Amino acid sequence: MTLSARWHDLVDRLADGVHLLAVSKGHPATLIRQLAELGQQDFGESRLQEALPKLEALADLKGLRWHFIGRLQANKVRGVVRSFAVIHSVDSLALAERISRIAVEEQCCPQVMLQVKFRDDPSKGGFSQEQLKQAWPDLIQLSHLQLIGLMTMAPIGLSLEQRQELFGQCRELADQLGLPDCSMGMSGDWLEAMHAGATWLRLGSLLFGARSMAKSSSVDDINAV
Ligand SMILES: *Cc1c(COP(=O)(O)O)cnc(C)c1O
Repeated sequence: MTLSARWHDLVDRLADGVHLLAVSKGHPATLIRQLAELGQQDFGESRLQEALPKLEALADLKGLRWHFIGRLQANKVRGVVRSFAVIHSVDSLALAERISRIAVEEQCCPQVMLQVKFRDDPSKGGFSQEQLKQAWPDLIQLSHLQLIGLMTMAPIGLSLEQRQELFGQCRELADQLGLPDCSMGMSGDWLEAMHAGATWLRLGSLLFGARSMAKSSSVDDINAV
């Protein structure tokens, strides 16, 4: 199947209210442009230094919305706030505070999802449910963040039922907190995530095929499975 056929096939299978985030990390701007011509507007990148040249190459496309999905280091916050509309991977109160402070200076209000871990998984960042509930009163005070949802990733090795349960827990917690969005589901588990109430599916390899571009650094990739 061509990229265009894969995109149409996926979009046709999305339930109402579910959005496709095309995860373009590891793929060149030319492929992003092809998808944009079909009508895809939301693209996800996990490393600022990889994303910036692509954003520049695509600056003539006005409707694109960039989503940051990787582990966000403190020294990259300003660059991300300047260029990305949505940040899916806010994994601590300190990071949220920093984003809000810099958003004040940059005069913008990024949309933010809080990354939550529903299972112990030392390889991934994220709030535990406990930590999130503790931080919540402080998080909702941050004036320049638009808190829109939760993001989660299923650890590898879970059974189908365990993944369904995990995604269900994420949907339930988002509902409790009054957050509309759940960013969950990747190429290997997007159907379970969609059935459990995801609103954003983050799909890379299923859409683009295997990632091809060389990685320039591994530090930012801890999250970028
Ligand atoms: C790379 C990545 C994805 C996409 O993964 P695929 O398995 O290629 O669909 C989704 N979410 C995050 C956070 C990623 O880093």
